[in-house]
Formats: sequence, structure tokens, C-alpha cells
Amino acid sequence: MTASTAELAAGFSRTRSAARAKRAPEHAVKFTLIAVVTAYGLLFLPTGIRLEYGDVWVAALLSAALLGLTLFWSTFPRLATLAIPVGYIVLAAFLREAAGGAASGFGGLFLLPVLWLAVTAGRRELAAILVAMVAAQAIPLALGGPHYPASGWRGALVLTTVAAVTGLMVQRLSADARRRTTLLQEQTDWLTRASAQLAAQNERLLELDRLKDEFVATASHELRTPLTSLSGYLEMSLDPAEGPLSPTRESHLRIVQRNANRLTALVDQLLFLARADSHPLELDRHPVDLEEILNEAVETAQPAATAKNISLVVTGDPLPDVPADRPQLLRVVDNLVANAVKFTPDGGTVRLAARHAGDSAVLEVTDTGLGIPHAEQSDLFNRFFRGTNAIEKAIPGSGLGLAISRVIAEAHGGTIQLDSTPGVGSTFRLVLPLA
Ligand code: ADP
Repeated sequence: MTASTAELAAGFSRTRSAARAKRAPEHAVKFTLIAVVTAYGLLFLPTGIRLEYGDVWVAALLSAALLGLTLFWSTFPRLATLAIPVGYIVLAAFLREAAGGAASGFGGLFLLPVLWLAVTAGRRELAAILVAMVAAQAIPLALGGPHYPASGWRGALVLTTVAAVTGLMVQRLSADARRRTTLLQEQTDWLTRASAQLAAQNERLLELDRLKDEFVATASHELRTPLTSLSGYLEMSLDPAEGPLSPTRESHLRIVQRNANRLTALVDQLLFLARADSHPLELDRHPVDLEEILNEAVETAQPAATAKNISLVVTGDPLPDVPADRPQLLRVVDNLVANAVKFTPDGGTVRLAARHAGDSAVLEVTDTGLGIPHAEQSDLFNRFFRGTNAIEKAIPGSGLGLAISRVIAEAHGGTIQLDSTPGVGSTFRLVLPLA
């Protein structure tokens, strides 16, 4: 049990015993009424035994007192706890006496206070009442009244034993039931607390989410604005119409421009992923011609491919249009082709192919490049992951391209798969549902 659960259990049992001391046990009044009415009903059964009406009246007064005690339990709870069962014993003794002593059959009435205390009190009280019950039966036997034959001892003994066994069993069962209720109460309290904690955490997460959205919006503006201005002025400075530049200065400005472009691309990638984390990617789907996408990607990658003497080849079947967000789809294919060119040594080949596979369209980008070590293939789509091939050969990149591509593919209900053999080449496969 943890400290808080122990506290809870202790608190719970405190309130239980406090409640037990102040309030009458549940059904106390009903129990007394039923016991008294039943006893009187049985008393008047036609047994042929003459009733002692003096004792009948004393028993009636006692019954009324018992009922009063039960009704006003909360005024004197301590007195009531012991007085009621003792009252039952005296009542049982009087009824027994009124109905002809040991032959009356009323010995069974002594079970009532035992049952009562078995449910409402502890072991000690139960033992005390058993002693009182024995005394109540033994005294008339010992005094040897005319209604009490010597064989009455056995009846008294049988009754006491049955009362003890029954009382202990009832006590055990009700203790078990109480323990189970306490446990259930603890569990309910724990669940209530846990759900309150979860609600608070959820509230905090929503707040964080809101802060993140705010940050993305601010960062988007604060980072992009100076970069746009930087790129604009660089373009103007490199414009021959603005006057000649020394070759050194022009080369410096071109380096600045390349880096500004890289920075812009990185900011875009970071903002894309930050947004994708808080909101599902919104797609503007229209029928898209995949052949067109492949040709556009080739056009974009052509300068880099030409610089490395890499052939870009487009093959494949004619395919029906695919419902997709065109710019996002192009972003994925551009990224796959750019990677293929980046990671293929000079003179290699990059093939782009589109084909049908069941209900899907498959776009494949295959290169004759460095390939990817098997151990790294499962990490490839993690953010900022860069393979040893990129690090060892100092191939520039951010490690975000494939993570973004996967987000876009999955938003379309598709996947990106990979086959790669180190030193031979890689195939990245974008699978998109046709409908
Ligand atoms: P980046 O290319 O900017 O490093 P990506 O997320 O696009 O980031 O790719 C992650 C890593 O996957 C790369 O660093 C590289 O190790 C590996 N990779 C991606 N495409 C290829 C490819 N065609 N051939 C070999 N390795 C690749």
C-alpha cells in the first residue's frame, strides 16, 4: 500500500467507526420490531402450556424500552450498544419464563442478541454476550425451578455452542464484507483522484499546445521576415543591372545566398513539423497526374544532377490521377529525388518510375548510390537522423526531409518504403491509395 492509500484507508476507517458510534446500525429499529413481534406471535401459539401473564407484561415493557433505546440510539450511543443486547437477553429470559421455562422452546431467542452483536460489534462484545447468555440459561437451571429439568443442561449447551459458532461466522463474513467495501472505496477514491490528475494534466497539455501554436506563429513571422528581406537584397546585389561586381565579391555573395536559401529551407522544415505535431496536416486534395509530378521533380533536380553527371530517367505505366495535395506530393518526390542525387556518386543513375499495384499507385525513386547500412534503416525517418554515409562524406542536410515526407505520405493514407543495399543503391517507394 502506498502512503496515500494507507492514509486513505485510515481516514475511511476513522469515519466508519465515528459513524458507527453516532448512528444506530442500519435496520436496527426494523430488527427490534421484527424480533419482538415474532416472539410475541410465537408466544401465543396454542401449545397447551399455560402462560405466566406477569412475565408476559414485564416482557412487553422491556420490548417497548428496547424499541425506545433503538430509536434514540444517537442520544446515548454507548449505552445503547450494550444495553440493547443485554435487554434482548433479559427479554428472551422473561419470554422463556412466561412460556413455561425449558419446555417452552424459547431458548432459540437467545440467538437474537448474539446475531445482533456479531454484526454490529467486535469480538469482545460477542464473547461478553455469549457469557451473559450462558448465565441467563444457567441461573434458572442451577436454581432448579420446576420448569427446568436436569436434561435442560444439554439444550443450554447446544444452544450456546450453536450461538458461538454462528456468531463467529457472521462476524467473519461481515468483516470480510466491510474489508471489501473499504477496498472498493479506496479504489474509487484512487480512481477519482487519478482522473482529476489526468484532467489537470490534460489542461496543462492544452495550454502547452496553445503556447506552441503561439511560438510557431511568432517564429514563423520573426524568422521568415528577415530571411525574405535578406534574400531580396542579395538578389538585387547580384543583379548585373545594379552594376559590376568584382569576381571575389560576387562569389562571396553567392555563398551568402546559398546559405540564406538553406536557412530558409530549414526554417520551413522546422515550422512544418512543429505545425504537424499540433494539428493534423490539412490536405487540399485534387486529382493529380503522377507523370507530371515526376517530370517536375526531374526538372527541379536537373541542375544538381547535371553538376554530378547523373542521369535522371523517368519510366513507368500510364496511371489514373491520384487524389492528392499537389504541392505536398511534389515536396515528397522532390525530397526523394534530391536525396537520390545527393547520395549518388558522380556518373550514376537515378530512375523515377510510376506503377500500379492493386488499389495503389507506387512512385519509385531508385539510385545507384551509397546505399544505407541495414542497422540504420529503421532510424531513417526519425527527425534529425543523418546516416553515417552523410556524416562521413560531409553531405549537407538537416535530417528532416524523410520525417516530413513520411508525415505527408501518411496524411494521404499512404506509406514510404525502402530497399537499400550499401554500396549498390537505394529504392524509396511512395505508395498512395488510388481512391
Ligand atoms: P538529409 O538528407 O537532409 O540528411 P533526410 O531525412 O532526407 O535528411 O535523410 C536522412 C538520412 O537518410 C540521410 O542523412 C542519409 O543518411 C539517408 N538517405 C536518405 N536518402 C538516401 C539515399 N537515396 N541514399 C542513401 N542514403 C539516403
